[in-house]
Amino acid sequence: MTDAAAPRILFVEDEPSIAEPFTRALTRAGFDTTTVGTASGALETADRIAPDLVLLDLTLPDGDGREVCRELRRRGDVPIVMLTARGTETDRIVGLELGADDYVVKPFSGAEVIARIRAVLRRTGGGSGGASPGNGQPEVLQAGPLELDAAARRAWLDGEELQLSRKEMDLLVRLMRDAGRVVSREDLMADVWDVNWFGSTKTLDVHVGWLRRKLGDDPARPRFIHTVRGVGFRFASDEELSS
Ligand code: CA
Repeated sequence: MTDAAAPRILFVEDEPSIAEPFTRALTRAGFDTTTVGTASGALETADRIAPDLVLLDLTLPDGDGREVCRELRRRGDVPIVMLTARGTETDRIVGLELGADDYVVKPFSGAEVIARIRAVLRRTGGGSGGASPGNGQPEVLQAGPLELDAAARRAWLDGEELQLSRKEMDLLVRLMRDAGRVVSREDLMADVWDVNWFGSTKTLDVHVGWLRRKLGDDPARPRFIHTVRGVGFRFASDEELSS
């Protein structure tokens, strides 16, 4: 079941520990996502599905992502975001010279890549029909005394603006979007953190702890962020907080 208006993303990544959680994260973010693990598969699939954007890994088992980029450019003007483990300036410049629209250096978070994809789609007018999710649409989330403007990345508690770090904001947005429902630790890690940290989720607890402190939440009797043991976290629903 795919939304006909959802932007189509071709995700080229051979590493399952990145491909699998990111495919889920992209789908959850509202993209119609097709994932392939080879350079030849990338070109073949690009011809077949005419994606709105290609998210392209540089190191593929049967070829170099830069070659794929060059070939895609020869065939058309589909926006390309490169995923690179190589952080050197030269590699970044080479990627952009090959015609990539943007690049993200590994390790990266789901939220970061999704933000880049949206920015590139906005810039290039991709995902025609204007259906690209979060394209400047105000998204105000309310939970009792807590208000969050996801597009502006600002949050207020009892009218006082909260000073949140980038990760704390990502985490709060993710939890509030699913207020009233449990979000698994795995999904939080994939959406908010670098998927390469997958499995080591201590950092999640540390950030939840910081966020709770800023929200004035007592971990023993939390008002906003409830721990669901062995599963993940649940943000209280607006009804729960208003009653
Ligand atoms: Ca790779």
